[in-house]
Amino acid sequence: MAIKVKCPTCGRLTEYSPENPWRPFCCERCKIIDLGAWADETYSIKGKPVEADDDIDITEDSLATGEIPDKTILNEK
Ligand SMILES: [Zn+2]
Repeated sequence: MAIKVKCPTCGRLTEYSPENPWRPFCCERCKIIDLGAWADETYSIKGKPVEADDDIDITEDSLATGEIPDKTILNEK
């Protein structure tokens, strides 16, 4: 009785069984990729460090003029 799960990395169906040492991944590579992605902070895009640049521009501009729009404060949250 084999349970099949989707590999979190590539999405392929793989057996979730003791015969698959990489479960729930389909292979060693997918497991490493997933771990590497975490270590590489690829997933931290969720925490929006990439979009932070835009916010910083707005914030710096606001500080320069001494005005901080309510919008900016809401976005910071
Ligand atoms: Zn995979």
